[in-house]
Amino acid sequence: MSSITMFDALLDVLEHRRRDNPYIELSPENQTFLTQAALHASATPTPPAPAPAPAAPTPAAPDNCDRNPKSVPQSPGPEPSAACEPNAATLTTADPIDLSNTSLVELETMVSACTRCGLCEGRNRTAFADGNAGADLMFIGEGPGADEDREGIPFVGAAGQLLTKIIGAMKIRREDVYIANIVKCRPPRNRNPEPDEAAACLPYLERQIELVAPKVIVTLGAVPLRFLLDQKGIRRLRGNWLEYKGIPVMPTFHPSYLLRVPDAKRDVWNDMQQIMARLGIQK
Ligand code: URA
Ligand code: SF4
Repeated sequence: MSSITMFDALLDVLEHRRRDNPYIELSPENQTFLTQAALHASATPTPPAPAPAPAAPTPAAPDNCDRNPKSVPQSPGPEPSAACEPNAATLTTADPIDLSNTSLVELETMVSACTRCGLCEGRNRTAFADGNAGADLMFIGEGPGADEDREGIPFVGAAGQLLTKIIGAMKIRREDVYIANIVKCRPPRNRNPEPDEAAACLPYLERQIELVAPKVIVTLGAVPLRFLLDQKGIRRLRGNWLEYKGIPVMPTFHPSYLLRVPDAKRDVWNDMQQIMARLGIQK
């Protein structure tokens, strides 16, 4: 494994661990170390490929679209699905968009070609939603990870498998709930979405919620709490009913946090039991 690949792997692991983990923050020293490591990796020349295939020159992306400092791809995968050339305006302002007559199918098609924010730059596939559009229960996560970016479906990786188990423990089938994310394109190295990215993507989620009209929404982790409900403090707020446009919302921990801190499953299970009671599901 080259040193660049090792750095990449390390950065991915650390970012993943930090993601949605309210208890663990990278120390300033580690943050500095990682920044320097990333800069070092991007400054190190990439060894020439053994047999480069002839390819048409790609247009240079604007500087502010280049969110990934590395010069090598993070993981092998298909070519990005849509040309992405967001301009400076789309990176800083979420242009208003009228989706009031847009169906879920139309929405998914729009999302698959969307360039409203810089996250389109690194995606392979958008992950629009999974499950049942007539569901009573909707789960909202953060954004696609590597597995979701490859498959084009939210929550199919390790965290997704845990989410599927949690749903099963609630005596519901995964196919009977609706699952979506704050952003539909994978943030580089699984970092949290930036406020401008979340704002650019939010109209899609708002319309999804409007069309699915669930009886209960579950927000997973700090990111949807912040960007959908404008609230901070997942540790304080989890387990307490909130509201989004009249729909009851139960904030709980993100499943990737549970993978790191299995003891927190007890809290999540309490939260899920409150939801079961509200939906009239017998224990
Ligand atoms: N984490 C999320 O928040 N969403 C996914 O789709 C996968 C992992
Ligand atoms: Fe569009 Fe959302 Fe993807 Fe940004 S994250 S490009 S707003 S679909």
